[in-house]
Amino acid sequence: MQESIKQYKRIRDKVDTLSGKLEAEHQKHLSCKMGCDLCCMDYSILPLEYYSIRDALKARNLVPELPSVNKPGSCVFLKDHKCTIYDERPVICRTHGLPLLFMGEDDNWELSACELNFNNFDFADFTNENTFPQDRINSELFMANETFVQEFDEKKYDEFDLIPIRILAEEIKTK
Ligand code: SF4
Repeated sequence: MQESIKQYKRIRDKVDTLSGKLEAEHQKHLSCKMGCDLCCMDYSILPLEYYSIRDALKARNLVPELPSVNKPGSCVFLKDHKCTIYDERPVICRTHGLPLLFMGEDDNWELSACELNFNNFDFADFTNENTFPQDRINSELFMANETFVQEFDEKKYDEFDLIPIRILAEEIKTK
């Protein structure tokens, strides 16, 4: 397995650990439950993540059953309000519902939080310690992806390219 894919899996494990900790910490605010799929949008992901997920699904011989019709703008892997690739879902999906801290375009810290979960909070209650460090994780992913695209010879990508996850559904179907 390529070192960049191993690095992706390490980042993913770290995200799971951190998300679990934040989930416990914000438990009283979280209304996330089976059947809520507001966060499940038509995301685009880095080639590193795309091919790691594709190869993991192939290795498990997992061909997800997909919905015959998709709600516009929703994720292609969402069926009956459930994720059909849950164990292999992208990093962004592992932070759903949590407060995310990131640097906005005007160089000010901004917070993204689900309005169903955090509908009554004071911005000052959120700190580096109790929010998900989205920018830090994104830079780690970006760096691992840079190495991945340089070494990947199946197809050529630029380091800034993103691939819509819906293409993966097509690719899996045809294999
Ligand atoms: S991959 Fe799964 S968790 Fe992520 S957006 Fe799609 S259905 Fe939701």
